Amino acid sequence: MTFSLLDRPIQFLKGVGPRRAEAFARVGIRTARDLLYTVPRRYDDASTVQPIRSLEVGMDANAVGHVRSKGIVPTRSGLRIFQAMLQDETGMITCAWPGQPWLDRRIDKGDLILVSGPVKFFHGRQIQPREMVVLARARDADPGLEEGSGRIFVSYPATEELPQWVLRTVFDANLDGLLQRIGEEEYLTPEDRAALELPSLPEALTALHRPSSLAEVEDGRRRLAYDELFFLQLVQARARRQRAGERPGIRFERTNELIRPVHESLGFELTDAQARVLREIYTDMTSPGRMNRLLQGDVGSGKTLVALFAMLLAVESGFQAVLMAPTEILAEQHRRRLAEHVAPTGLDVDLLTGRMSAPERRDVAERMESGEAKLIVGTHALIQEGVAYSRLGLVVVDEQHRFGVRQRMALGAQGDNPDSLVMSATPIPRSLAMALYGDLDLSLIDELPPGRKPVRTLVRYPSKKGEVLDLVRRELSAGRQAYFVYPLVDESDKLDLASATQASAELAEALGEWELGLLHGQMSSDDKYDVMHRFLAGEIQVLVATTVVEVGVDVPNATVMVVEHAERFGLSQLHQLRGRVGRGADDSYCVLIAEPGERAADRLAVLRKTQDGFKVAAEDLRIRGQGDLFGARQHGRGDILSFADLSVDEPLLVEAQRRARAVVERDPDLDAPDHGRIRTLLDTRYAERLQLFEVG
Ligand code: ADP
Ligand code: MG
Repeated sequence: MTFSLLDRPIQFLKGVGPRRAEAFARVGIRTARDLLYTVPRRYDDASTVQPIRSLEVGMDANAVGHVRSKGIVPTRSGLRIFQAMLQDETGMITCAWPGQPWLDRRIDKGDLILVSGPVKFFHGRQIQPREMVVLARARDADPGLEEGSGRIFVSYPATEELPQWVLRTVFDANLDGLLQRIGEEEYLTPEDRAALELPSLPEALTALHRPSSLAEVEDGRRRLAYDELFFLQLVQARARRQRAGERPGIRFERTNELIRPVHESLGFELTDAQARVLREIYTDMTSPGRMNRLLQGDVGSGKTLVALFAMLLAVESGFQAVLMAPTEILAEQHRRRLAEHVAPTGLDVDLLTGRMSAPERRDVAERMESGEAKLIVGTHALIQEGVAYSRLGLVVVDEQHRFGVRQRMALGAQGDNPDSLVMSATPIPRSLAMALYGDLDLSLIDELPPGRKPVRTLVRYPSKKGEVLDLVRRELSAGRQAYFVYPLVDESDKLDLASATQASAELAEALGEWELGLLHGQMSSDDKYDVMHRFLAGEIQVLVATTVVEVGVDVPNATVMVVEHAERFGLSQLHQLRGRVGRGADDSYCVLIAEPGERAADRLAVLRKTQDGFKVAAEDLRIRGQGDLFGARQHGRGDILSFADLSVDEPLLVEAQRRARAVVERDPDLDAPDHGRIRTLLDTRYAERLQLFEVG
């Protein structure tokens, strides 16, 4: 079955033609279906549209009416004002656009327009519109106020080439026909819809384009959001199933031979959250299926320790376990930590990174291949060609970048269908985690080890830099270390680099007694490594860095983090930076230097109020919106989520995931007759936009 009519190129719809089709293509609308799924830009309903008679000077008006007369009025000062007389069934009012005489060519007598703006007094009442939308053209048949759109006025995202009235004309001419067709794509049964409390597809799309109330618009949006989330989860559930199903997973056997001695020599208790998450992991690992789990937790919540116990379970069952870190310094640090923890067992921890000499690498590779190496830590070198394992059982990825699907896959493809545990470095809200990592199961460490001192978070204007430097000097004099972080919008941005370099020269002067190191994205990895290493060893006391470079390393002696231009960073990013200090026993500080400004102040206040990364992330999502959350920017309007809003749709997402996984569980290839429509939709509407999530 295909949905040929909805797949029809936009060019063949009424009122389009080749030239407009090109303009549509430029905004990502290529087929009839794309048009139908265009998200309106705004809705104005009867409660927001005011009768013209009721408008009074000083109000902010939102009015709809027909243009009865129009013209350009010159003033003595030479300013040309476009004026139009607007009429609805209650009265008339002048609208005036000073300095915009060109509107005379845009607006015709008889057009139906929507305006919003302040009502002023100027020879009588007058609206000076901030915004204007041509809802219908006089030359089109009968642009009545009441008919068609009812009392809700729908505006689409217009462009220079595709003004509002063109979009509306195209919708008016084609909507009925398309809505008749869309029923063919309904894949939810009436029972499903009742259970989900969602309207049918035709109802939802009708509500989107011709709503009779704003509540109806929201119902429609929720339905379309559910569809997006369901198909996203479906692709992820299939990826999950594909990996789990290729070959059976490993059934690890817990003997406690290694786990016990390491546990007993810890010197502290696991937190309840760590213990709970470990139980989830042990359960996955000791069952025959293959583990695919995402471990989330705030900086310092003890994820690495949890990973170590999972690795020990693999090793005591006779398998090898690897931990892949995003940078060499981090890999080395992990190796050192793990080696300390496993000392009582006599196990070695092997390291494989790109900067090791060829003979060293060969040596480790041999140990890996022979099975002598059991616990292995490394960088991407671990997934390079020529690296073979004897019996790989568990892969742990300490993920810095949120979007490492392919790399995760590459490591997972090694060896004998190993279990996989991904550690996310930045906490993200559950809904976001489910959307990005729907192919994984989630484990959450929502508790910090006891006794952690909160980092004192200060927000300061640039003019207070002197005081900030005093604070830094005090800490440095006490033998501590400090970070200064500068935003770098783009690695190749020479200007920003120059300003970071310049700033570090200024700092060198202000903090002349101490050693400074500069770290930025254009340095070779050897140079970066060298600077980072000297900071770690305490040879450098002040590290000046751009965020593109790693600051993921633990330096417990560092007690100050100064972030310049903090207003340019996302909250989660700042929280991540803050997590670099407060790792030792001393008081520590995070100073956010930001230009005065209400918005920035509000945002940064979130960080002062909470140390909880999940709260920060939820707030970040709420403030910034989900934006470009899938990394690869989607062209035009083909965004992966255009209707779903992860800050409110978590319940829908949970349901979508549950149902998608159930479908795939029962019928992985979607061959069942009652999955025919789902299969077709997946191959047509969702294929291209979701290919990011397909596993090769
Ligand atoms: P993460 O990887 O989540 O950032 P780590 O595993 O590196 O956190 O742990 C941070 C620090 O806290 C380490 O020094 C670790 O030894 C310590 N730690 C971990 N778990 C506990 C615990 N339950 N009690 C006390 N300290 C802990
Ligand atoms: Mg860590």
